[in-house]
Amino acid sequence: MDAKNLTCRKCGAVYPLANQYSCEACGGILEVTYDYEKAFSQNPVGNPDNSMDGMWKFRGLLPVEDKKNIVTLGEGDTPLLEAGRLSRLWDCDVEMMVKAEMLSPTGSFKDRPTSVGVSVAKEKGFEKIVVASSGNASASASAYAARAGMDCVVFVPDTTDPNKVIQAQSYGARVICVRGNYSRSFDMAKLCAERYGWANVTSTFINPYTVEGDKTPAYELYHQLGGRVPDYIFIPIGSGPLLVGILKGYEELKKMGLVQRLPAMVGVQVTACEPITQAFACGTDRVKGWDKQIKTMAGGISDPLIGYEGDGELTLAAVKRTGGRMVSLEEEEVWEASEAIETKLGLYCEPTGAVSAGAVKKLWNQGFLKKGALTVSLTTGHGFKYSGRQPKKPPVIDSVDQIDQLVR
Ligand SMILES: *Cc1c(COP(=O)(O)O)cnc(C)c1O
Ligand SMILES: [Zn+2]
Repeated sequence: MDAKNLTCRKCGAVYPLANQYSCEACGGILEVTYDYEKAFSQNPVGNPDNSMDGMWKFRGLLPVEDKKNIVTLGEGDTPLLEAGRLSRLWDCDVEMMVKAEMLSPTGSFKDRPTSVGVSVAKEKGFEKIVVASSGNASASASAYAARAGMDCVVFVPDTTDPNKVIQAQSYGARVICVRGNYSRSFDMAKLCAERYGWANVTSTFINPYTVEGDKTPAYELYHQLGGRVPDYIFIPIGSGPLLVGILKGYEELKKMGLVQRLPAMVGVQVTACEPITQAFACGTDRVKGWDKQIKTMAGGISDPLIGYEGDGELTLAAVKRTGGRMVSLEEEEVWEASEAIETKLGLYCEPTGAVSAGAVKKLWNQGFLKKGALTVSLTTGHGFKYSGRQPKKPPVIDSVDQIDQLVR
């Protein structure tokens, strides 16, 4: 393993690879840094370890020392699908592709950061993990804890989709609902990690290891696109580690000389909870926590960021550095995008995961996208996760003669 240190993203202070959640000097966000010269000499992306499944092929750039500590369910290696039927439906003159993250082992991309977080916790000797989640990370952490033989405590908002709660409980986790928005669950997990010494694998930026898993879609895209770099990558954003991780992955690809430029990163929120989009629109680098009442079907990205606004600022800076942008969808646009993904691509998507495709239409109509550009949208969560659909009651028949009037 060539991971070397934890480095503060704000003041540059350097720490050993311990279980640490923030900079002692300035409170800033920590990130894993590598001995890149050593790591790159093995060509870890161009020539991955094919004895491993999924994203752990790229373990040369992931922070786990001993292979036997890797806790995996085969996450990663999600398909990249051509999505011309969507761009034609929406009259967008772009080459549209979708990376189907809903096909991850627990039905969301969270399996990437979780697999790294739980593996590192195992390597450091932890027996219990805690996670705060809007739903998908709790299901993911519960599954990986079960796989590792660890105990798992989950904090979710009391408004979390019951399907996600059931999934976490099914893997054997202790699920606790916290009244109020996601930020309250976040605080609870943080306090418990401090008080009881559990490993906090919450997939925001608090655990510096988890975001390393979020780099891996970049490595996969490098192979899936034969070295071509997308002009734009569209990502649903709560606090933004997936976006920051993918950008870090591309920055590493560039340092290795495998690509010559970076994609423009587009972060997508919903107008019901859009603290980062608002900061982008105002032209400020400061993100203000979202203190309004939230009602949206995109629960997976309803992160008000209250008390950790710096997470949003890190994401905002990443977006700006690449010439990308933040954009938010209205509820009708979210629903339209999920229906389009289902009926035109045959992928079952939770509304949260659909915003990255819907935003292609929105930004094309606003004239932001270059003609003929290559866009990749990450559809981050599975349709099975969402219980808000109203079933159209199918007809019930007794005999073949009744079909005649149905198909007419
Ligand atoms: C968590 C989640 C997101 C948001 O990702 P972050 O990187 O945490 O901002 C997007 N989509 C789905 C389906 C999620 O579960
Ligand atoms: Zn610092």
